[in-house]
Amino acid sequence: MARVNNWQIGREMSYWYPEARPKKQFAAVFDTNKCIACQTCTLACKTTWTSGKGQEYMLWNNVETKPYGSYPLAYDLKLLDMLNGQAWNGNKYEGQTLFESAPAGERVLGWRPEQQDYAYPNVGEDDCANQVDHGAFLSLPHMNWFFYLARICNHCTYPACLASCPRGSIYKRPEDGIVLVDQNRCRGYQECVKGCPYKKVFFNPLTNTSEKCIACFPKVEQGIQPQCFVNCIGKIRMAGFLNKPEEARADNPIDYLVHIKKVALPLFPQFGLEPNVYYIPPIHAPASFNRQLFGPGAAEAMKIYRNAANDPDLAGLLCLFGSTEKMVTRFRRQGDLVTAVGDGGADLVRVPMHETVHIRPAIDPMNQLVRINIP
Ligand code: SF4
Ligand code: SF4
Repeated sequence: MARVNNWQIGREMSYWYPEARPKKQFAAVFDTNKCIACQTCTLACKTTWTSGKGQEYMLWNNVETKPYGSYPLAYDLKLLDMLNGQAWNGNKYEGQTLFESAPAGERVLGWRPEQQDYAYPNVGEDDCANQVDHGAFLSLPHMNWFFYLARICNHCTYPACLASCPRGSIYKRPEDGIVLVDQNRCRGYQECVKGCPYKKVFFNPLTNTSEKCIACFPKVEQGIQPQCFVNCIGKIRMAGFLNKPEEARADNPIDYLVHIKKVALPLFPQFGLEPNVYYIPPIHAPASFNRQLFGPGAAEAMKIYRNAANDPDLAGLLCLFGSTEKMVTRFRRQGDLVTAVGDGGADLVRVPMHETVHIRPAIDPMNQLVRINIP
């Protein structure tokens, strides 16, 4: 095994191939505080990529309700249990990653879901933590919480799917870090399904090959964000490119949120894959729960997000989420105006941080009418 640097766990780790970072790494930030679980993203993906035969059960994008939701069933709990104890010392992970704890003769610690595990994509939806007793009413702060976690393939820096494949059918594109399955090489051994801890590779029994989220690469190649991003009703998503921490740029939106503000965190960094979808943790959920999902930076990230109203650059950047279908590679704020900049350096969109509210009188004497939509 090679020794590679994984900045998310604050140390070197063992991986099956030498470190080979792409020229640019496709990455994304999801703001969990804004997701309303409308599942528009899920359907946007389903109708674009997985409406064929053998793909019926596939959800390359899914949205689960935490703490009880998971797709496939208990994908996360099973692995946390198998890892058995994950010790962080500050920002350094001192436990073992999935590669380091692989059983003899295997490349990754993993498990393969049963058919039945895919049968309940909405399990736990809108179920809150703790019991709501008969006759109880909501008082603040409330102990009963849940939140929505939207998930796609993380296009990991150290993909477990790629490491597990005995045929070498999975590859990471050097130009943008998107992870793909070569359909011509794949023989359907399903080792990737077993290896991916996020369970984002799916087996197609009709073609006898594995399939997965392709980050809508034909769109990304044209500078356009993927389907699940541009269709997101809650405007929770932003796609772009992430640099290494030591090369972070303050005007790159993803770098700014991940490396500079540290308000967006990876999902289960302790697995060791360096996933490239980053989450702004839900600020109403317990910090201990967020820590288990998003690592030791969770409590601080919640604090930073709560203070966003007093942090104009952060607040401004959050206003750009969902404001353009183009990939935003730079941003700048001048006063109350935030500008998204595209790959070629052209301004894509300008968004005011505060919108003026005009309230029209309910009665219009000139036209002799009563308005029902007053603002
Ligand atoms: S479309 Fe956006 S808001 Fe709706 S479920 Fe998906 S991520 Fe959440
Ligand atoms: S999330 Fe899973 S399928 Fe996607 S790159 Fe990582 S290991 Fe592979």
